[in-house]
Amino acid sequence: MQELLVDSYGRKVSSLRVSVTGRCNLRCIYCHGEGEVRGGSEITVDEVAQIARVAARHGVDRVKFSGGEPLLRRDFEDILAALPPMRDVSVTTNGTLLAPRAARLKECGLDRVNVSLDSMDPDRFHFITGSPNGEQFERVLDGISVALDAGLTPVKINMVYLKGVNEDEVDRMIAFVRGKPLVLQVIELMNFRGAFKYHADVAALEQRVKAQADRFERREMHRRTKYFLGGAEVEVVRPIDNSEFCMNCNRLRVTSDCKLKPCLLRNDNLVDVRGMTDDQLDNAMRRAVGLREPFFKGPVPLRPDKVKMPE
Ligand code: SAM
Repeated sequence: MQELLVDSYGRKVSSLRVSVTGRCNLRCIYCHGEGEVRGGSEITVDEVAQIARVAARHGVDRVKFSGGEPLLRRDFEDILAALPPMRDVSVTTNGTLLAPRAARLKECGLDRVNVSLDSMDPDRFHFITGSPNGEQFERVLDGISVALDAGLTPVKINMVYLKGVNEDEVDRMIAFVRGKPLVLQVIELMNFRGAFKYHADVAALEQRVKAQADRFERREMHRRTKYFLGGAEVEVVRPIDNSEFCMNCNRLRVTSDCKLKPCLLRNDNLVDVRGMTDDQLDNAMRRAVGLREPFFKGPVPLRPDKVKMPE
């Protein structure tokens, strides 16, 4: 193995987050469109495989796929099958297309899934996702159930916490995950596309969860805390103005048009790696890692609504 990828803040890169498409079949009111690209063709199976192979030389052993909606890629199974050996391969999906493919995804090397589900109420689900028909909600629930059967576990449920929309559903979601290989991740809304009117106080929520917890553990990723509440596992993800979160970020992102992206919250330091040899890519990867810096450095707190997000 070659030397580890460490940025100038001492943060080791151990995982890739690859957006495989900017396309999506839902229109969530808050979406930060992490995979969205304006123009440019989608990253190919070979390009993903090459990036993963070169990163793996430096000890990167985890990859998460995202989008857009990754399962809109008909060749997603090929992408999985082309990866070098990794310790953890996962995908974040809206779950609508998961059920028919879950078993095959597992066979092709997927270890686990995160499914975005912000509400257990079909009307609210439709409000949040702009989903064009009532079937999508059922498909997501079915997707979760089939993923559990296929062993894509733990299945993590991503719930963006939205003021006046689903704040009252956390207990219901905790009950949903309790006693199963499911984990609830309640995520603070980041201010994209004027969605900030839905921003809710996750710090207060975390205090409530903590007060009910039997025990907690710290994760390496972002130093997030996992709480255990009578057989339910819950995480509260607070990315905004959280210098500890940023200081413990170990991800290098890849956009759906094949650029290395040092930070979710910046678009001004992307590194295009299309058409490179492995050695050129290796150099470009080191350059991208050199460009990494924590977005929130502290100690001066920012008001969440004043945080400038990329266009
Ligand atoms: N389509 C896939 C899905 O729904 O999971 C993958 C892409 S989606 C952008 C990845 C995750 O980002 C989802 O869990 C989503 O809820 C979360 N997300 C999107 N916009 C966000 C925002 N403004 N603040 C916090 N989380 C957000």
